[in-house]
Amino acid sequence: PRKQQLLVVANRLPVTAHRKGEDSWSLEVTAGGLVSALLGVNELDAKWIGWAGVNVPDEIGQTSLTEALVEKRCIPVFLDEEMVDKYYNGYCNNILWPLFHYLGLPQEDRLATTRSFQSQFDAYKLANQMFADVVCQHYEDGDVVWCHDYHLMFLPKCLKEKNSKMKVGWFLHTPFPSSEIHRTLPSRSELLHSVLYADLVGFHNYDYARHFVSACTRILGLEGTPQGVENQGKLTHVAAFPIGIDSGRFKRALKIPEIEDHIKELKKTFAGKKIILGVDRLDMIKGIPQKILAFEKFLEENPEWHDKVVLLQIAVPTRTDVPEYQKLTSQVHEIVGRITGRFGTLTSIPIHHLDRAVDWNALCAIYAITDVALVTSLRDGMNLVSYEFVACQESKKGVLILSEFAGAAQSLGAGALLVNPWNISELAASIGQALNMPAVEREKRHRHNYAHVTSHTSKQWADMFVSELNDIVVDDQLRT
Ligand code: UDP
Repeated sequence: PRKQQLLVVANRLPVTAHRKGEDSWSLEVTAGGLVSALLGVNELDAKWIGWAGVNVPDEIGQTSLTEALVEKRCIPVFLDEEMVDKYYNGYCNNILWPLFHYLGLPQEDRLATTRSFQSQFDAYKLANQMFADVVCQHYEDGDVVWCHDYHLMFLPKCLKEKNSKMKVGWFLHTPFPSSEIHRTLPSRSELLHSVLYADLVGFHNYDYARHFVSACTRILGLEGTPQGVENQGKLTHVAAFPIGIDSGRFKRALKIPEIEDHIKELKKTFAGKKIILGVDRLDMIKGIPQKILAFEKFLEENPEWHDKVVLLQIAVPTRTDVPEYQKLTSQVHEIVGRITGRFGTLTSIPIHHLDRAVDWNALCAIYAITDVALVTSLRDGMNLVSYEFVACQESKKGVLILSEFAGAAQSLGAGALLVNPWNISELAASIGQALNMPAVEREKRHRHNYAHVTSHTSKQWADMFVSELNDIVVDDQLRT
């Protein structure tokens, strides 16, 4: 018999396509967490459905790209520029992303660009319908369809309306906010109803799942049960599936000669200094200004540490065309400049702030030589950087300072120093505590986190979600 297919539907394919000629393409694979997670689901024949990140208006281009993507097991959805602007930049990134991270709906500056709320929502629904059409072209009886993230909240409804027997799961990679936040969204009910068409709805932690169920009970007036949400006899299962990383990949990386050389070099460069590390996209949710202000306060209060500690902040640019993000960049630069001016000397500076991504080998090396990782997200679905740091710390056993508002706080909380990133004094004090922590305590905390990170991998996460989805559908069929 034919192998069951797993159709993974996400806004972006794990591949970026660059056009070389009328019908030729170069493909660049991006190895994200989801990609490595799904490489591990052996029993299933996994295929990706999503947007390739490029506008392809002509038929020759569309046909040739579709063919080129076959070997990557990817199936493209073609979205034109206007669609990307309204659905992706507009509804997804200007409305849902900030709302789900408790930044609220557009006000002031952002409101001016959001007058077309309804047209953005219409584009969102239309885009989701386009994803559904592609899924249906490739779906065969018995396959599993796994929809990902806030971009595709309408997809479960589109799919089930076409085929009520389809096994449909939906997973959210961001937080799901308190129902009182979700209540402010003009399309609050329509979105919830659409998600509820799925058989299984998954979140990173129990809080997000609970917020979702409360939104359904309070806003839609439905009944919440221990398993999920019930609507006219139909149960949508809701549960927490915390994602993990491919920890083995990081462990192996540290033994690659090139990375070992890199580690040696970095150790030489920063000899005699303790290293504090931040790795974040430059997004408002990451609390980068708070982090740097806390570091400034720490230096102010602890002159004995001047020259003995350095903050490496890798700030990966994101959405650089959006004014709010440009403002954040300037704000961060201003603080970094001030601190360098105040605490720098002719021969040393307290902060290395990079406005760019670093390659994966370099990132592994930096994780390995770090003494203190500083994760100060104001809200964060999970935060994989904290997991990756732990995976690379077997020899160093450094300290993780972790925001209690990152999903990871629920899994790494016992090993990390948990902080409220809004409390700059507490944050500054925790930097001191981390730098001065006795080796015995550091080891104990590290052991706790390391055990978690290496035993809760991305592969297990994907396996668990898919097998739960399969079980639920089988149970439902037995019941009816
Ligand atoms: N990352 C990267 N290059 C960099 C810095 C970070 O590829 O220069 C990766 C990092 O390894 C991690 C991801 O970006 O896997 C960030 O994931 P996280 O969950 O921490 O935050 P997100 O960016 O998804 O909000």
